[in-house]
Amino acid sequence: MPRILITGLVVLLYGCSGEMPSDHLEISYIANAGVRFRSGDTTVFSDAFFNIAVPPGVPPRLHDHLSREDELRLESGQTPFGCADLILVTHEHDDHYTSDAVRNHLEHCEQALVVMPADLSGKDRSQYPALDADRIFGLDAEDRPLYIDSQSDSLTVLPIALKHSNDPEGNMPHLGYLLTLAQFRVLILGDADTPGENLDHLQDTGIRNPDVAVIPYWWVTDTNTRGVLSQGIRPRLLVPVHLNRGNRSELVPAINQVAGEFEWVEVPNSLLETVAIGLP
Ligand SMILES: [Zn+2]
Ligand SMILES: [Zn+2]
Repeated sequence: MPRILITGLVVLLYGCSGEMPSDHLEISYIANAGVRFRSGDTTVFSDAFFNIAVPPGVPPRLHDHLSREDELRLESGQTPFGCADLILVTHEHDDHYTSDAVRNHLEHCEQALVVMPADLSGKDRSQYPALDADRIFGLDAEDRPLYIDSQSDSLTVLPIALKHSNDPEGNMPHLGYLLTLAQFRVLILGDADTPGENLDHLQDTGIRNPDVAVIPYWWVTDTNTRGVLSQGIRPRLLVPVHLNRGNRSELVPAINQVAGEFEWVEVPNSLLETVAIGLP
């Protein structure tokens, strides 16, 4: 079991096999907005654990290159996916998170911890066995960074208040994150809306030059937010996600058109398509 120190929110993790040298960060696509990050012996998944059969009774929607068999391998930590040290969840939409998928992973991967919005963790804690519920950390947008210390590499998770208004009540908990994994900084935007306060808030964070920004594709097709990304935040590597077969044929050419505005744009096209970056 992981040893957890809450003093200053420091968490110690034990055991995870990995092959990435810690001066490289590997970014691998899973499905929809789901991505795996690896550096050294540390593995982080973001929005990658959801049951593709949810909601029941309709064909799996966005996840055409993730089969149910792949999903079960992912949930059980099998090759080629492996076990997470940390699972990040931006919000509760079932194309980003379902509790059964996360619960299965926690059952198979005893070092895995989960970070999600505090309101969601409060609501869903009963979905997990009591012991596993202790491995779930809820963050509020105002919280200071959560520090996680693995055996080889430290992890830091800074929550970022970003609205995702695509729900009837307009108050669904949703967080972006600035993940620091080894020496790499990764900006994750979840399903953040493009206009208005999100843009202001992201600029207010003062985040500049992250190594990677994983963003929903609509931040690239929207001129305003694209400008903020390319002029203000300036990630070294931009990874647009939330793509599926239905929208890919229209979006990929559009995204490729703006590639010149960024140092490096990688549009994932298949399961476990992987890029690795070194230190700047
Ligand atoms: Zn959503
Ligand atoms: Zn979504």
